[in-house]
Amino acid sequence: MSRAWAEWAVKRLPVLILAAAAGCSSSGSLPGGGAPAPSAAFVDDERIARVEEDEPGAWIAYGRTYSEQRFSPLTQIDRETVRGLSLAWTNAIAMRHRLQSTPLVVDGTMYYTDSWSFIYAVDAATGEEIWTFDPQTRREYARWSCCAGPMNRGVAVYKGRVYAATFDARLVAVDAATGRKIWDVDTADYPSRIPYTISGAPLAAAGKIYIGNSGSEYDHRGYLTAYDAETGEKAWRFFTVPGDPSLPFEHPEMEFAAKTWNGEWWKLGGGGTVWNSIVYDPELRTVYMGVGNGSPWAREIRSPGGGDNLFLASIVAVDADSGKMKWHYQTTPGDNWDYTATQDIVLADMVVDGRRRKVLLQAPKNGFFYVLDRVTGELLRAHPYGAMTWATHVDMKTGRPVENPAAVWEKKPQWILPGNTGAHNWEAMSFDRRKGVMYIPTHDIPYFFALPEEFVKTGRYAPREFSMNLGVARGSYRLGLVEKAAAPPAAKGILKAFDPLTGETLWAVENAVSRVGGVLATAGGVVFQGDGSGAVSAYDSDTGERLWRFDSYGSIQAPPMTYELAGRQYVALVASANFNYENYGKIMAFALGGEAQLPEPPKRDMTIPEQPPLTASPEEIVRGGELYHRFCSSCHGHQARGYRNADLRAMAPAIHDAFQDIVRGGLLKELGMDDFTDELDEQETELVRQYIVSRANIDRAATE
Ligand code: CA
Repeated sequence: MSRAWAEWAVKRLPVLILAAAAGCSSSGSLPGGGAPAPSAAFVDDERIARVEEDEPGAWIAYGRTYSEQRFSPLTQIDRETVRGLSLAWTNAIAMRHRLQSTPLVVDGTMYYTDSWSFIYAVDAATGEEIWTFDPQTRREYARWSCCAGPMNRGVAVYKGRVYAATFDARLVAVDAATGRKIWDVDTADYPSRIPYTISGAPLAAAGKIYIGNSGSEYDHRGYLTAYDAETGEKAWRFFTVPGDPSLPFEHPEMEFAAKTWNGEWWKLGGGGTVWNSIVYDPELRTVYMGVGNGSPWAREIRSPGGGDNLFLASIVAVDADSGKMKWHYQTTPGDNWDYTATQDIVLADMVVDGRRRKVLLQAPKNGFFYVLDRVTGELLRAHPYGAMTWATHVDMKTGRPVENPAAVWEKKPQWILPGNTGAHNWEAMSFDRRKGVMYIPTHDIPYFFALPEEFVKTGRYAPREFSMNLGVARGSYRLGLVEKAAAPPAAKGILKAFDPLTGETLWAVENAVSRVGGVLATAGGVVFQGDGSGAVSAYDSDTGERLWRFDSYGSIQAPPMTYELAGRQYVALVASANFNYENYGKIMAFALGGEAQLPEPPKRDMTIPEQPPLTASPEEIVRGGELYHRFCSSCHGHQARGYRNADLRAMAPAIHDAFQDIVRGGLLKELGMDDFTDELDEQETELVRQYIVSRANIDRAATE
């Protein structure tokens, strides 16, 4: 914190306290008459860079510091005392959508987001509300979600402001003291047939706010944009894949990248969205971005004739001021598996082969753990950290993975590991640099890959205009192939203590479920992790022994974080609603001797009401099921077993009556149900409804 600002704040303190007590914003005269001095959260590059030395109890950036190691030096909660850890406070987050936010704590205030990108500022000691900001996210964007609705992974706090991206692809800046909006820019100012979305947290550094976008599955062309932190003015944009080569290239890197593509990829978007990891090295003034998968997934369709398809599935280092590329490393050349390299990037200084190196660590979806020299991009290590069938190893001379000739799924449809969820996804990992150990939430979840039926039969691929576009087999055709294939290995979630240099797994603990949450490790010798069953667990970081467990009655994917206030250490995380309960999401903060209670919520009423008449023929119901799984299931669940969004088996008679107006009239647009007139005609819509009735009858019969 700068001295000038500290002096100004002390003088202003009575005013700030009065303003806070009155629940209103503090405004008025400002020191020096120049740019307005911030009245809260004065976080700048220098303060973030000095967190380790100056503020061991703070968590002021997404991964705690710019190095994003997510490791805390706090030791009050340790291997012994963790057994007495209990809930200090909790706030409901009144929605069932997935919650993924990493809370930040700056000067005693906690900032976190919900799925619609509301920003909450609360007292980090009590959870008491300071302000809430509603960015007015357009709810109909839920339709363009990769994964069952909206989501948001959190904020950046910088120079008195809080920055967040919204699911409808805007970037907003609000005053950290008051929650008042300062600016709001549309980051989707690039032509696109299907709207861009954003799920990630922005990075604030070097006077700029950096943000990417989501939705490679919706034919997008990925890019990262830098905005002036003060004004919101666009500073530069780095596209991750080339556009139409008959048009001028936006920047020289695109001309280079276009040589690695074939066919007419730009018509299908290409992919490469930067939807998660954006990391900054202040010393090198470099921004590192993790680039997403190809669109569509199948490379034979996306880029017929082959090619590496730069910069898909790559880590790209660019100059923070100009956006000019410094180096790139492609983890999966010619991505064919949805193997994003968007997973969290960790920066560290390590001795590698006797030499001190500035390294970059990443465990992308493809199952290899990469150690790169972050000055040059040189590959130093690439050990497997999860089960894999697609490749055998990485050739350290070429830096390329060696694909397994038995796993060519275009010729022989098959289960592949890692699947499209990756051996590791965005669930944060945590790095203990003193020990050189990475704690990684991994999952072995296979995916059945096959080319689409139409493409196999005709060699042609005609994507639907407004729907997810994977370029792989789906629906009943896929199901038929799956039934003929050998049974897949069981899905597993495994927490691993992993040595990135030797590739050794020091210990591994199988989670209760395959869907696991992010990880936090601390100098107290404890590793914290939540999981999809709602359990929050603490493990001994040396042995993996479970020391503590708490049932949140939720479902957890978000990472825990920790902070210290007035001599007390807290561990906080968000939990989504759980399918089995009549409940919402929440944020929870734990401390030693915490006295808050979390009563078990009422069990969800799973009774399916009596249905209106089924009038469609069996063939029509099959057709309705195909349409349902094409357009509805990603939000309303496989076989209409929905939860995060409406369970359609439980529709009231009035909803059945209004079904056409909802699906083809936008009646519930405000709630996130878009108008599907562009995809479904009246008769098809009725077949979808008939399919839902038929599913409801089947499930009713099974429970009677
Ligand atoms: Ca993807």
